[in-house]
Amino acid sequence: MKKIALLISSIFIFSLLSCGQVKSSESFTAMNTFMTVSLYSSSAKKGQSVCNQIQSRIQELENILSTTLSTSDVYYMNHNNQIPNSLKPELLELLEFSSDMYKKTSGAFNPALYPIIREWGFTTEKYNVPSDKKIEELLLYTDFSAINTSTLHASSPIPAGMELDFGAIGKGYAADQALLILEKNGITSALLDFGGNIQTLGRKPDGSLWRVGIKNPWTGGAACALSLESKAVVTSGGYERFFEDESGNRYIHIFDPSTGRPCDGELESVTIISSNGKYADALSTALFVMDKDSAIEWWKNNPDFDFILLTKNKELIYSSGIKDFIEPLFQFEKISVIQN
Ligand code: AMP
Ligand code: MG
Repeated sequence: MKKIALLISSIFIFSLLSCGQVKSSESFTAMNTFMTVSLYSSSAKKGQSVCNQIQSRIQELENILSTTLSTSDVYYMNHNNQIPNSLKPELLELLEFSSDMYKKTSGAFNPALYPIIREWGFTTEKYNVPSDKKIEELLLYTDFSAINTSTLHASSPIPAGMELDFGAIGKGYAADQALLILEKNGITSALLDFGGNIQTLGRKPDGSLWRVGIKNPWTGGAACALSLESKAVVTSGGYERFFEDESGNRYIHIFDPSTGRPCDGELESVTIISSNGKYADALSTALFVMDKDSAIEWWKNNPDFDFILLTKNKELIYSSGIKDFIEPLFQFEKISVIQN
């Protein structure tokens, strides 16, 4: 009799766990990308309310960070060479974080490339290869170390000609902010897809790991799958946005700050796996700039994240921390696991 009671109560607990979770999902366009929030909660009403809170928070962030919206804080800063009269905590946080990442990556991550990126036409899609002279001239405005975040305050001047663009960390930061909302609302299982920036919270409601695909640059399908929980997975790829000149030279949207030119190294894509979205986002861009050997070297000195590199000659390289969680889905020329 006791056994039967135990059996019934454990079945009851199990059914509460599996059936008590209702899936809510919301898609919208923000930060120039298609975003989808999927979460599990106790009721459809609660789920919808959390999705709405996330969407409004991202709208708020876009209103601060957009380079094109004339009412944004970044737009004000770029057009007035001055921090806005009220320095929003989000802007200060991203300036401080960027300053830290600029130093740590020896300038590979640099949010002050906007004048150069615009000259190449990536902001308007009116693409153009600038002259060497023009690039040299614009490089003078890209020394981000000229901004001293420790003394920064409302209305601080920023160097004349300098223009900032947080495009390389905005979506990762938005995912971090969305996580705060999920946690505040007691949500323990969610998947955010912010234009290819994936953020997972917890596991799936059935207790299994989330399975995330890494894009195959050659086929458009998945190059490998990752099983994980509570991690951000962020990819920077040369195939995402580029233009070609008449001779077939390809110019991608990720720039080498030391030359003012689009990166053209051995890498096709860099994926970073970390619990911090903006860190993953900054590093996906920075390690792409560093290129294969220096990226691996950088990780060996800073092994607080995992990475996946796909090279142009179809090599798959990844850090040892994910060796039990990665499944190649493509016939790679070579697969290498890097230990630190
Ligand atoms: P992501 O796709 O995260 O690698 O970000 C690329 C975007 O960040 C580009 O579209 C540019 O707006 C900007 N960007 C390009 N090169 C860099 C760089 N070296 N450091 C910081 N931001 C960059
Ligand atoms: Mg990035």
